[in-house]
Amino acid sequence: MFRSSGDSKVGNEPLDSISAARVRAEQFSVVLRQTPGMMLANVCNALVLVADFWGTRQFVSAIYWAAAVFSVSGYIYFRHRRRRRAPRSASQSHAARRATLNALALGICWAALPLFFFQEAGPGTRLLIACLSAGMLYGGALALASIPLAAVAFVGPVAFASFVTLIRGHDSHYLLIAAVLGVYTWVLLRGIFVSAEQLRARVMAQIATEQTASIRMQKLQASGLNAMGGMVTGLAHELNQPLTASACYLLTAQRLLEMPEELRPASVESTLDSAAQQIMRAAGIVRQLREFIMRGEPEKAFANLHDLIREASQATTANMSEANVKASLQLGANVDRVFVDSVQIKQVLVNLISNAVDAMNASAERELTISTSLIHDLAIRIDVVDTGVGFSEMVKETLFEPFATSKANGMGIGLSISRSIVEAHYGKIWAESNPGGGAVFSFVLPLVNAELEV
Ligand code: ADP
Repeated sequence: MFRSSGDSKVGNEPLDSISAARVRAEQFSVVLRQTPGMMLANVCNALVLVADFWGTRQFVSAIYWAAAVFSVSGYIYFRHRRRRRAPRSASQSHAARRATLNALALGICWAALPLFFFQEAGPGTRLLIACLSAGMLYGGALALASIPLAAVAFVGPVAFASFVTLIRGHDSHYLLIAAVLGVYTWVLLRGIFVSAEQLRARVMAQIATEQTASIRMQKLQASGLNAMGGMVTGLAHELNQPLTASACYLLTAQRLLEMPEELRPASVESTLDSAAQQIMRAAGIVRQLREFIMRGEPEKAFANLHDLIREASQATTANMSEANVKASLQLGANVDRVFVDSVQIKQVLVNLISNAVDAMNASAERELTISTSLIHDLAIRIDVVDTGVGFSEMVKETLFEPFATSKANGMGIGLSISRSIVEAHYGKIWAESNPGGGAVFSFVLPLVNAELEV
């Protein structure tokens, strides 16, 4: 059977008090929105009836009846106008009771219409009364549907009075109409409860979406803080080394300069040089980090990835031939159209190539292969394979973390920048050990749908 509005469940899910209050607030705001229209319909319908009774014996009674409808409608309208917004949870149960009582008062007014006027009315007026009662039944059910108890308080008396009036005369036509009215009322009541349930489910789905979004936001903030904490610690460590070294060089140089000129060793100049180099290194770290942070949104355009790979490999040719590295391009993907910031993607490729070259410094075999392949015709995969030192499983975990470096002069931010660039292009980057020795750095970028380029 039907479930009443006071029951705090959606389907089989129990509602917590906050969600239940939100559902009730939503129910009230729907009713509040409908109130002016509903009260206007009451007043207009009552006026129509008074006009119809003009000059008849029932005119004075009709005036009293209409006055009752006007008073109740006016009272409800002005009370709701003052409220405008849905009640807060503390006064919700009180407001629900009042809404139900208001609906009952209005329902009783409309129930009086068939009960007291139908019997003595002529055929035309009877038709009018039947039409007005049916119209009010439907309108009331529609306007109050979100608060099922109030809707029943209105529909119940009107339907009951109409039904009793129709069967009272034992006229076969009216009996048929009474049967139709019975079915009609059943359908209306069912509709009221179904639409209240739908409203409730909609609000709950909205609450669930908001909760998921808020949890995701909290996680993002937490991971952002973690990443920032890690970055600051790494930066402090990175800057500490060159600054401490330069301070040592400068102090040494100062001592050397305090010595009498004839005893002063020639190394004072190289000591100052070393200090300058360390300071430049610290400045370099800060500059790179600033560029990383200031890097705005990628400026994307359509491009052929194979062209970018060729350009990146050309840019590193000198580096590779100096390190005696044999490079080969195996650009096997037969589609390579991408929508990327070409400068940034080349930056990723140059970084991966430079790292591979560095990693092969001590290797007898120095081969670098850059290959491409398609993933379900939706994305293109790029593999940068080297025969260098490779990395341990433990290092693999931190490769893409900022300031993770194994190089004496490395800054350890190349891979973390590469990752953020690839992710800003809706791609993914990762590293594996090369089964033949060395490393494989791979990344995937989405391909462009050819139709988009028109
Ligand atoms: P940097 O090159 O300044 O150290 P990166 O972020 O580019 O910074 O690289 C971080 C670390 O990842 C390197 O120091 C190195 O230990 C490791 N690495 C990167 N590429 C390779 C590779 N091809 N083979 C082995 N290790 C690598």
